Amino acid sequence: TSLSDEARIALGTLGERAGGIFNAPSLRLGVTGLSRAGKTIFITSLVHNLIHGGRLPMFEAAWEGRLSKAYLQPQPDDAVPRFQYEDHIARLVTDRLWPASTRAISELRLVLEFESASGWGRLFSGGKLNLDIVDYPGEWLLDLPLLSQDYRSFSERAVALARSPARSDLSGAWLAQAGEIAAHADASEEKARALAGAFTSYLAACKADSRALSTLPPGRFLMPGDLEGSPALTFAPLPDLPDGRAPSGSFQAMMERRFESYKTAVVKPFFRDHIARLDRQIVLIDAMQAMNAGRDAVIDLERALGEVLECFRPGRANPITRLFAHRIDKVLVAATKADHLHHESHDRLEALVRRLVERAAQRIGASGAGFEVMAMAAVRATREARGESDGETLPLIVGTPLAGETITGQTFDGATKTAIFPGDLPTDPDSFFQQLESSSQASIPPINIVRFRPPRIETDDQGVKLSLPHIRLDRALQYLLGDRLE
Ligand code: GDP
Repeated sequence: TSLSDEARIALGTLGERAGGIFNAPSLRLGVTGLSRAGKTIFITSLVHNLIHGGRLPMFEAAWEGRLSKAYLQPQPDDAVPRFQYEDHIARLVTDRLWPASTRAISELRLVLEFESASGWGRLFSGGKLNLDIVDYPGEWLLDLPLLSQDYRSFSERAVALARSPARSDLSGAWLAQAGEIAAHADASEEKARALAGAFTSYLAACKADSRALSTLPPGRFLMPGDLEGSPALTFAPLPDLPDGRAPSGSFQAMMERRFESYKTAVVKPFFRDHIARLDRQIVLIDAMQAMNAGRDAVIDLERALGEVLECFRPGRANPITRLFAHRIDKVLVAATKADHLHHESHDRLEALVRRLVERAAQRIGASGAGFEVMAMAAVRATREARGESDGETLPLIVGTPLAGETITGQTFDGATKTAIFPGDLPTDPDSFFQQLESSSQASIPPINIVRFRPPRIETDDQGVKLSLPHIRLDRALQYLLGDRLE
């Protein structure tokens, strides 16, 4: 990364951020998380709630009646796909089905018109904020460590993880194929394709595994965006590389070159053009799914979260992060899908995730203090109830399971409601993580995760449709945007 890049970003973003006589100030909000963490749902519900005057008591500008208008406008970056809000909201609200998840980067501009609480605010912002929401796969952030690795260290790490007990049963086919390749033999496109394919299948198997193993780099192998099949994606790590330089024309030399291309043509531009321009960031995680999948999955999530947070940590020596880390001044880690729990467990979920974030931060030698943590549901698909069992009152949640969901032998048709006892989360995060450290498969109490249909949108007494129900979305908005609407 050259100095000119740095200057360009600094100048460009300074202008964007401050606005000008003709332009309102803008705020670029990054939304990320590993696949299926809830990015698409979060953005869709955020926009819907702001446009339709949602119930947002903890979001001060809205609650005080100062948010006069919110509407979509063309985004500033013509080369980035637009976030397909209209399609997603139609599927959620009209079909009551979950829309397709994030596969690549996309962007959406939401203009917020507000009455500033202070005279200064009115003078400088003119009561308008352009909120540019940038949605991108968290998998792509996991590429950051690659920038400080060469092909040899990349291979060593990848192979060591593939041989570890958590993954060895999934990596056999790829490692066997890789073991047959002599690193110094002649380069072969055919073998490169076959090996990259086997490596990608291994990464996909980790992702699909019921232990919910989190994703390993290179991030584009599973989320290629528009790069599918390009040579920069047709490489794979090799085990047990011989010492010394790879002879030119050898298979190893070909892999080395492509690994370097991946870094220069894919990873660096992504960080420079997108991450470097963000002002605020929300990182979504599906902590309950990991906890349900067991100890290995929680530890894996912690590792992946550490790597994600590394990208947003200020004051680092890494030349790439130095470019942008100072710019992002707020990072929120949000555990999504809290509507799978009774509200009595929401604070427990938040406490567990706070501890998880602290541990992930420690892994990268940082403090968890710089990261805000919340438990929320961007869309609330359930409501609460109480039931009796053996003379005990149980907190229940009620919803309509998706067609085809099976609960204790009953398969649902997508139209029938049911009540379930979701289970209790551990009350003490410290003893939870101590247990996790000490036993091979800690006894994590199972949470009953049912895939419910999105909720029916209610209407008020005038027959006006209300916005999507949520849990604590308003708190997230206040943290991420509140100070810019004062
Ligand atoms: P991403 O775009 O890949 O991060 O993930 P999505 O936003 O598409 O979410 C993946 C799936 O998680 C959805 O299809 C829903 O089934 C579920 N989900 C996401 N957010 C929520 C939520 O707030 N409540 C509930 N009940 N389910 C959610």
